[in-house]
Amino acid sequence: MSILDSFRLDQRTAVVTGGNRGIGKGIATALADAGADLVVANRDRDSGVAAAEEIAAETGAETLAVQMDVTNEDDVATAVEAIIDEYNSIDVLVNNAGITENVPAERMDPEDWQRVVDVNLTGVFLCSKHVGRRMIDGDGGSIVNVSSISAFIANHPQPQVAYNASKAGLEGLKTQLASEWARYDIRVNNINPGYIRTNMVEDVLKNDPEMAEEWKREMLLDEMARPESIGALAVYLASEASWYMTGESISIDGGYTVR
Ligand code: NAD
Repeated sequence: MSILDSFRLDQRTAVVTGGNRGIGKGIATALADAGADLVVANRDRDSGVAAAEEIAAETGAETLAVQMDVTNEDDVATAVEAIIDEYNSIDVLVNNAGITENVPAERMDPEDWQRVVDVNLTGVFLCSKHVGRRMIDGDGGSIVNVSSISAFIANHPQPQVAYNASKAGLEGLKTQLASEWARYDIRVNNINPGYIRTNMVEDVLKNDPEMAEEWKREMLLDEMARPESIGALAVYLASEASWYMTGESISIDGGYTVR
């Protein structure tokens, strides 16, 4: 197999949570472009269907949209069942869905804290549990969690204690799952993006240029990356090209964390 062929995902089924926009859509498009049958698993059905159609038109891949709130175990189980009915197996799971609450810790309601932890940490557990079972029954697979450099560093000037705690939790989840599931040929790795130009970041660039400048000062590279750049790393981690890598955490942040 040539080196570029080892990145191909033909005859694989890949599921991306929150694949309708932002980093999730960038990853979903990259996986489809690499040959995967692509499933957008989205809380809001209509935008999931629209994204799946767009990705199919752009890449020529087979795509499907399923409705799934990652915090609701019944939703997750039903969606996984529907994907298996359609494709027989799930080979790649990208746990991308995530939210933040920029509230100072001393004023944060427990409900706000819980909402972030439910999506960013419990949601990853629930999706991994239900897809992992199918991978265990099948030929294994690759699980890729979209974590953040916030798992390791403090962000400033904005407050986001629940976000950083939930992403730090993904470090432990990934390490333990990689250990427990290696025997089933399931690899588990985390991607830790820095600031990426999605809707949220574009809003800050427009409305709070001072904050954006502060972020940029911390980067070695001048540019903020777009979601496609995260897609390239996801293809690597999803494919045979990374067969010897599991339990790892890779930052892709324009040098933010080494500055
Ligand atoms: P985004 O808000 O554009 O996308 C988030 C996605 O998650 C949306 O599709 C949304 O529908 C989905 N989602 C939220 N709650 C959900 C739920 N309960 N069930 C199912 N789906 C749900 O944000 P983004 O910037 O593209 O972020 C994607 C991931 O990347 C997140 O995990 C985020 O923490 C991470 N990340 C983003 C950046 C950045 O700079 N944008 C940096 C580091 C990490």
